[in-house]
Amino acid sequence: MLNARPSFTIALLASLLLISVACRTGPKAEQIFTNGHAITMNGSAPKAEAFAIGHGKIVAVGSRQELRARYTGAAEIDLKGKTVMPGIIESHGHLLNLGRSSLELNLVGVATPAEVAQKVRERVAETAPDEWIIGWGWDEGAWASSYPTNEELNRIAPRNPVWLKGLHGFAGWANARALETAGITKDTPDPERGKIIKHTQTGIPTGILTDQAQQLLAKHVPPLNQEQSEKALLLAQEECLRHGLTTVHDARVTRTVLDALHALAAKKLLKLRVYAMLDGADGELVASHFRSGPEIDPEHWLTVRSIKVFADGALGSRGAALLEPYSDAPGTRGLETTSKEALFDLTTRALYAGFQVVTHAIGDRGNRNTLDAYEAALKKVPAARDPRLRIEHAQVVAPGDIPRFAQLKIIASMQPPHCTSDMPWAEARIGPERIKGAYAWRRFLEAGVRLALNSDFPGETLDPFYGMYAAETRQTPEGKPEGGWYPEQRLTRQEVLRAYTVASAYAGFDEEIKGQIAPGKLADFIVLSDDIATIPSRSLLTLRVEQAYVGGKLMFESKR
Ligand SMILES: [Zn+2]
Repeated sequence: MLNARPSFTIALLASLLLISVACRTGPKAEQIFTNGHAITMNGSAPKAEAFAIGHGKIVAVGSRQELRARYTGAAEIDLKGKTVMPGIIESHGHLLNLGRSSLELNLVGVATPAEVAQKVRERVAETAPDEWIIGWGWDEGAWASSYPTNEELNRIAPRNPVWLKGLHGFAGWANARALETAGITKDTPDPERGKIIKHTQTGIPTGILTDQAQQLLAKHVPPLNQEQSEKALLLAQEECLRHGLTTVHDARVTRTVLDALHALAAKKLLKLRVYAMLDGADGELVASHFRSGPEIDPEHWLTVRSIKVFADGALGSRGAALLEPYSDAPGTRGLETTSKEALFDLTTRALYAGFQVVTHAIGDRGNRNTLDAYEAALKKVPAARDPRLRIEHAQVVAPGDIPRFAQLKIIASMQPPHCTSDMPWAEARIGPERIKGAYAWRRFLEAGVRLALNSDFPGETLDPFYGMYAAETRQTPEGKPEGGWYPEQRLTRQEVLRAYTVASAYAGFDEEIKGQIAPGKLADFIVLSDDIATIPSRSLLTLRVEQAYVGGKLMFESKR
């Protein structure tokens, strides 16, 4: 220091002075939100009237007076007494599928087959020859007594395969070009659970395929390319923001979707933060990421550090792997879509590479296999720091296995809307004993398990307040059954709010930056139409998001 040149010394002193000024005043604020009713989800200060934002982060929380005095140059935004809470973190959804349905020809509410044909005709005019035209939403229930045939569609679209899916997923309607592409002819036999409806005289398929027969065609529909994927993701993003979601964990992204997400991030078009789980079925995609390591965006728009795999199927279709046979189908115990050994192998490699593993497991055998595989992998890689392995759905779990989630520090990621959708038939599948460990949210919490709640959209609505209602009531929106289905598993408002914010942030390694309105957190928050802390469960069904802020920017505002 003695030999330092004077100019250098002055520069050093000046910068030390600047640092000390910055330390005294803290980070700068550009905006102060005042006169609000902020539910902060921060245990030490659960409510607040005002908070200040700078550089996309919350820099201070307190009273208006205090913040006004501290940040004299900041703009003030009057929240007019509205309730504000941290943005919802949707810890399991499917963005592409959500956006894809918006790209499809919408046939909801269309009254007659002639009207459908008119809509298809308009779409043909703007579609290249040979390109598929996909529609969705004609009412296969209402039209079931006399299903339409495809002659009109064949005339309108001789060169484009046309596939129009029914509103409820029980039937689809294809033109001749689509049937031809899929190789479905008058000689194609019906699959086990489904029907290819044929003209009684000629035996030629009419174009209507029911139940499993739809798969014969659906598997030939080409996946979206990158450009189409970008379009679909942007549509999905708007839909998410509208429902108050500010982060989405996308529970399986293919290489194309990942490329599309990267492109959107590079173009600064992401308004929603995305935690992308890589498709574990794509060995090349997984291996290349294991080589390059986790991708943690310093701006927090797109994070890639987890792999999604499937241990079994679904309960409704009896694909969930059970320890004992299905109660209503004694010949089957469901199926393991990934073996325990393969799960162990993938998890071990992931732990070495610093990745999280996220496994879909619905049945008690699927869950036990996953727990066994995780336990063995954690033992094999003791150096794995903070692995946060997850099980998605954890829908039917043997009671003795629930505490293992806590022992192994495995996150249970569960979907309240699945419970209320499945409750009419779930007990028939597994009987009165096993049902006690099904959708057993309270049992998980009482065992000390970290519980993240989410929707698994678009299979269920992405509205998080509907999910909260389902978690609190275990009833349909109409209030059935009286008192709730296995009501001892219901959750309280505080538990539910935590599961959709703080706990879901933790599931994505984001608890330091998300899930609360607190200094140092990202300024991701939503303004609501009512006080979510005190309204009765029923009122969650009509609660609306008025504004959604991500990184301090207004990304959605309702027009009402
Ligand atoms: Zn899913």
